[in-house]
Amino acid sequence: MKRPEPLEIFQPASVEEASAIVKEKGPGGRFLAGGTDLIIAIKEKGLAPKYVVDLKRVPNLSGIREEADGSLTIRALTTMREVEISPLIRKRFPFLAQSAAEVGSIQIRNRATVGGNMANATPSADVAPSLLVLEARAKIASAGGERVLSLEEFFHGPGQTAMLPEEILTAIVIPPTHPKLVGEYIKFSPREMMDLAYVGVAIALVLNGKEKRCESVRIALGAVSPTPMRARKAEAVIEKQIFTEELAEKAGEEAAKECKPISDVRSSAEYRRAMVGTMTKRALLNAAAQRPGPVPWVERRERRY
Ligand SMILES: Cc1cc2nc3c(=O)[nH]c(=O)nc-3n(C[C@H](O)[C@H](O)[C@H](O)COP(=O)(O)OP(=O)(O)OC[C@H]3O[C@@H](n4cnc5c(N)ncnc54)[C@H](O)[C@@H]3O)c2cc1C
Repeated sequence: MKRPEPLEIFQPASVEEASAIVKEKGPGGRFLAGGTDLIIAIKEKGLAPKYVVDLKRVPNLSGIREEADGSLTIRALTTMREVEISPLIRKRFPFLAQSAAEVGSIQIRNRATVGGNMANATPSADVAPSLLVLEARAKIASAGGERVLSLEEFFHGPGQTAMLPEEILTAIVIPPTHPKLVGEYIKFSPREMMDLAYVGVAIALVLNGKEKRCESVRIALGAVSPTPMRARKAEAVIEKQIFTEELAEKAGEEAAKECKPISDVRSSAEYRRAMVGTMTKRALLNAAAQRPGPVPWVERRERRY
């Protein structure tokens, strides 16, 4: 393991102070949340930040809250484990809890934060597809003020986001959702644990009546394009139609066409594309079979493939 050079570390007590440090010290610094990406990058991948700004002493950057209008705020330093076990998230969005539960090991999930997962902008980030289908927004702040972006606008490419160096992701906000919304997240990776997604598929679906007419559907894919992406052409196959297995299959084929996978150490692009088709169909069928509300962990785990 490479020994890192000594670093200058700051522990600000507010977002404004954290942002001002970066403005003053200039390029080459990094914010630190749980450190599960940053510390590995420093110790094993040769990253040598000039300085590190630790966000953990900044108050009010952690926690999950339901707002009066029904929206849900997940503050940036909330850990994956908190999302995984939150009664609120398990009740309203069990597939989001599931996607957090797919991250690494319990030790990693106790440190890894939702904000870090988004800010690190890995195409395979597990909670990103679930947040995309919930049309989540990113709250970003600096000493100069606050702005809000859709998560789609937030991701620019692998490791690239819309944030300026001095900006801090403070929260993810999920707007109010339809009471009948059901969803699903499937992480496809041949190893059951401690592996990144070869393909991730999230679904958010609202079906009406006994005939199951699709009032709205959102499909998002991870690990198959430079950023986590919405599969809008696949969504158009199902939107306003009576939901059937054949349509789910067609939507899978469309998603496979519109994703942009690469070949790497984990998988060839062709394999990823084929698995997008299969997993999108499966995730749609799983979602359509659900009723709103919590889904037992064992049941979710068994449905993984
Ligand atoms: C063994 C292991 C297994 C893993 N398995 C998975 C997995 O299965 N799925 C998965 O998705 N990920 C996995 N990860 C990756 C990692 O755990 C997540 O990406 C994690 O959520 C990052 O959060 P963090 O708080 O640790 O970020 P940090 O490492 O602290 O920061 C990551 C990056 O984001 C920036 N940053 C952090 N917070 C903010 C903020 N609030 N505002 C602005 N910038 C910020 C930092 O400057 C840094 O560049 C794994 C990591 C390890 C070590």
